[in-house]
Amino acid sequence: MLLNTASKTLSGWGRYHPKDCAVFRPERNSELKSFLEASGDQSFIPRGLGRSYGDTAVNEAGLVLDMCRLNRMRHFDETTGILDCEGGVSLAEILETFVPRGWFLPVTPGTKFVTVAGAIANDVHGKNHHGDGTFARFVHSLELWTPALGVVTCSPSENSEIFWATVGGIGLTGVILSAKIQLRAVESAYVKVDYQRCPHLDAVLEEMESRDRDYLYSVAWIDCLAKRAHLGRSILMRGAHARVRDLPRRHEEKPYKFSRRPPLAVPIDFPGFVLNNLSIKTFNTLFYRINRNRQEVITNYESYFYPLDGIHDWNRMYGRRGFIQYQAAFPFEGRMGLVSMLEMLSEQKRASFLAVLKCFGPSNPGLLSYPMPGYTLALDIPCKPGIEEFTRELDRILLDHGGRLYLAKDSLTDSATFAAMYPGVEAFREQCALLDPQGLLSSAQARRLHLIK
Ligand SMILES: Cc1cc2nc3c(=O)[nH]c(=O)nc-3n(C[C@H](O)[C@H](O)[C@H](O)COP(=O)(O)OP(=O)(O)OC[C@H]3O[C@@H](n4cnc5c(N)ncnc54)[C@H](O)[C@@H]3O)c2cc1C
Repeated sequence: MLLNTASKTLSGWGRYHPKDCAVFRPERNSELKSFLEASGDQSFIPRGLGRSYGDTAVNEAGLVLDMCRLNRMRHFDETTGILDCEGGVSLAEILETFVPRGWFLPVTPGTKFVTVAGAIANDVHGKNHHGDGTFARFVHSLELWTPALGVVTCSPSENSEIFWATVGGIGLTGVILSAKIQLRAVESAYVKVDYQRCPHLDAVLEEMESRDRDYLYSVAWIDCLAKRAHLGRSILMRGAHARVRDLPRRHEEKPYKFSRRPPLAVPIDFPGFVLNNLSIKTFNTLFYRINRNRQEVITNYESYFYPLDGIHDWNRMYGRRGFIQYQAAFPFEGRMGLVSMLEMLSEQKRASFLAVLKCFGPSNPGLLSYPMPGYTLALDIPCKPGIEEFTRELDRILLDHGGRLYLAKDSLTDSATFAAMYPGVEAFREQCALLDPQGLLSSAQARRLHLIK
């Protein structure tokens, strides 16, 4: 089959180690169907909006299948809140369409520029993981194209072994064509938030463990350059969707409306010296000082969930060399690992702006699903010489404390380290071998981590 492909230099959101790839972007389902039926022996990986940080949706050895144009919403049941949509629909499109009708996403990551299929393929978590689990919990069923079986419908009760390999399965079990997802009923487009300063790590962890359950959403911004007595100082931001009675008078009439600031954009790659230790430390200190304890602050959902989405291409602030994100999960009993990691970060002055800290609730049966009960810390790390050795050290701390890293953020780990963190990896490889015996689905990350047989 003669394909109309474009040649593109692709990377993840961190812009680390871009690679030249041939990209095929079907405009219609018929084009996708022809491609899948005649895909031959060339490897390919589906790609959504490219918001994973590393090389999970990059395939320089074959094709990248850009799924973003296949973004039809097929049906919505106003009584149950179940949306049936194609995998290329973005969370931004769902919010735009359904918030005015009183529905919100059941789980959302920290950006709305993510596709439904991308959210499933990484089994994304949000600020409500402690109570609600991951995105997969709200997927009633999905349609997956696989090389061996064609189109399969799967869910936690139908073809469940395929379902649990696919959620968190980073595109390696097949192409997610569509999904039925449960939306959440809300009374307004606003969130009611309590802000609380926590002067050190013990304070924030104790607060999270004792009182997160009183809130639907909880997240902390942590200053990872703070040291000694201030190590781990944080601003905890916890809240829930505001009801109409919570809103100030001026919003009561139109609770689903709010005014958006025009988005800003970063037009150029910042020179490397702009983000230096002094500027970052100053930013972190100011952020900590400005955010005093406040109760029941009403803010629109965009400011609470997506503070970075208001600045287009903010990843250019890290300059040409890009950055990586490192996201670590520690079990509750591995708390000292979190301390060691923060100490290392503040001593080596590598971490960037405020990082994100959360408490996770229970995990699910997803073979490669990331969350585990405990703590998760997400860090942006600018790419400077020595970054590989530095992340090896972070990996070692994680392994020593029974933790794991998140595939959506990974750029640098190796296969042995990954396998030691994810006991489900062998079962995952077996599922992939059944669904894709020729190994058509492949990515730079899958090859680096030996995720496929
Ligand atoms: C600012 C920011 C904040 C973030 N916050 C969070 C957070 O709070 N929680 C969290 O969990 N994640 C977070 N993320 C990560 C992001 O949610 C995930 O990486 C998500 O998977 C990206 O979706 P995407 O559509 O961009 O997919 P891509 O990044 O393009 O691809 C992700 C994976 O999905 C696969 N895939 C894409 N489409 C399909 C398809 N149709 N069929 C099968 N597989 C497919 C790809 O092969 C790849 O493995 C954040 C990212 C950013 C940039």
